[in-house]
Amino acid sequence: MIKVFDPEATHSLGIALGRSLPAGSVILLEGDLGSGKTTLVQAIGAGLGITENIDSPTFTLINEYLEGRLPLYHLDLYRLQPAEVAALHPEAYWEGVEFPLGIAAIEWADRLPYKPSSYLGICLAHASGDRRQISLTPVGEFDVAILQLVTN
Ligand code: ADP
Ligand code: MG
Repeated sequence: MIKVFDPEATHSLGIALGRSLPAGSVILLEGDLGSGKTTLVQAIGAGLGITENIDSPTFTLINEYLEGRLPLYHLDLYRLQPAEVAALHPEAYWEGVEFPLGIAAIEWADRLPYKPSSYLGICLAHASGDRRQISLTPVGEFDVAILQLVTN
């Protein structure tokens, strides 16, 4: 599904995702700097009920937020090479062994040397003015019904 979103629509999409995604969901975000990846994750956090300020993990690499309906694990791989990403063991955030299952939202997911078998791929691109083209691609067993729920 590809659609153009103004800032308010991006916010609503994130809120709806945060309210409906099940534990263990992985969101792989791609798109240029400033395309809105962090902004969307902030709205997902708000939908999960997180009141803490969600900022960009460009330097911290991983931020964890535990106060919402589910844990939110927010990763930003911008500064990393795939081999360095492997050393971070990102799978710890979607396997549910080391950390309780929550929502793993990963910016610059093209840096991942391997991906989970199921995830929601989100690609953002600049459109005119403050609009963004956002494509949502369910992969593997990601529940398509959730997309119908959050995009109408
Ligand atoms: P990224 O994490 O992809 O580098 P950010 O979310 O940090 O991007 O920045 C996106 C910027 O674009 C923010 O300042 C945000 O307010 C702005 N913006 C403008 N229009 C939109 C939109 N329709 N959706 C998302 N962000 C938007
Ligand atoms: Mg960002």
